[in-house]
Amino acid sequence: MIIGGVKATDIVSKHGSPVYVTDEEAVRNNYRRVHSAFAKHMPTRINYACKANSNLAILRILEQEGSCIDAVSIGEVEACLRAGYSPDRILYTGVNVSTPELKGVVGRRVPINVDSFSELRRLAAISTDVPISFRVNPEIGSGHHEKVVTGSRSTKFGIPLNKIVDAYSEALQLGFRPVGLHFHLGSGGQDIEPFLKGTDVLVSISQRLEAELGLGMKFIDIGGGIPIPYHPEDAPMDLDHLAEEVTSRIKNGTSAQQIVLEPGRFIVADSTVLLTTVVDVKETPDKMFAGVDAGFNTLVRPAFYGSFHHVAVANKFDRPGEITYDVVGPLCETGDHLARERLLPRVEEGDVICVYDTGAYGFSMASNYNMRPLPREVLVNKGEMNLIRERESIDELLRHQRMPSRLML
Ligand SMILES: *Cc1c(COP(=O)(O)O)cnc(C)c1O
Repeated sequence: MIIGGVKATDIVSKHGSPVYVTDEEAVRNNYRRVHSAFAKHMPTRINYACKANSNLAILRILEQEGSCIDAVSIGEVEACLRAGYSPDRILYTGVNVSTPELKGVVGRRVPINVDSFSELRRLAAISTDVPISFRVNPEIGSGHHEKVVTGSRSTKFGIPLNKIVDAYSEALQLGFRPVGLHFHLGSGGQDIEPFLKGTDVLVSISQRLEAELGLGMKFIDIGGGIPIPYHPEDAPMDLDHLAEEVTSRIKNGTSAQQIVLEPGRFIVADSTVLLTTVVDVKETPDKMFAGVDAGFNTLVRPAFYGSFHHVAVANKFDRPGEITYDVVGPLCETGDHLARERLLPRVEEGDVICVYDTGAYGFSMASNYNMRPLPREVLVNKGEMNLIRERESIDELLRHQRMPSRLML
């Protein structure tokens, strides 16, 4: 198995395991693919949703490609500024944003996508000299799991649809100049239909804003959520069809000059694999377990969402499947699995298992559960290999804890 021109087993020999490995070219190609699909039809801005993967090297690669950013926290804003993005290339979309955080974002001169009337009023008390847009709850949701559907009516997200014109009206009265309208339906839903229905909702809101408030939108932002085919049998979403349908609705129905998209998963998911070493093989009456050194502390998606990630044995890539394994990690929970019931070549201690499509919500959702340090991240490109995050040490894991001296007596 070769990744970005480097043998998978060489990466593990050099950097240890578990390790996330990102192919730079895949990140660049995915960015270009989604940008060009839409830019053919109208001016397009891609706000990479950096919560999917906020490694500075990946932010830097996308900065070079001309991407902009969707940031959901002050930490993400700061990471992107340090990766070289100017503030106007970042859009901050928070939910339940605290006033100190709002001050931090305003202080960094980053435009704000407002999620509630409370946020709007608290922002007005800080400054009205900041470009804003609104996130509407379009009452249309989509997603690969109920936990990641954000656009339906019962979620915490966005300004309620029946109040959205009032929000712009109040913003104007407060002295803001709103420039955009946004929704985010959810993450990884396979259907195009919700995007089209959602776009219709944005178009009709935009028309009301023009008619009732004389307010034209500079941009219409259809959020993120473009899925990727995790299963070898899945088909990718037809991006060209999506782009054509969405842009024609915006061009025909509004005076917006720009479409904005916020793909996270689509840009990084398939750029990265997780390499993990088999440390234990256990045969039980019911199962064969391939015990590896990555658990849901390293990759939480299978345990948290029941997500499917394709797996293969990197050092036996050419051998046929022979035995059905559950690939399980070192955490003390039964839910700690990476893959269930997969036909693999016979595995032994020391084999390297490759977990595919882990670039989105992989490292960025990793934790220290069971006091396990975060893994290394490596970038590969045309045969070259660079460390882009050092493995955490046990000392670093403990460094924020404080012992009251009376407990040491
Ligand atoms: C998470 C998120 C995205 C990205 O979703 P993907 O499914 O990774 O494309 C985009 N916009 C907002 C506001 C988000 O919260």
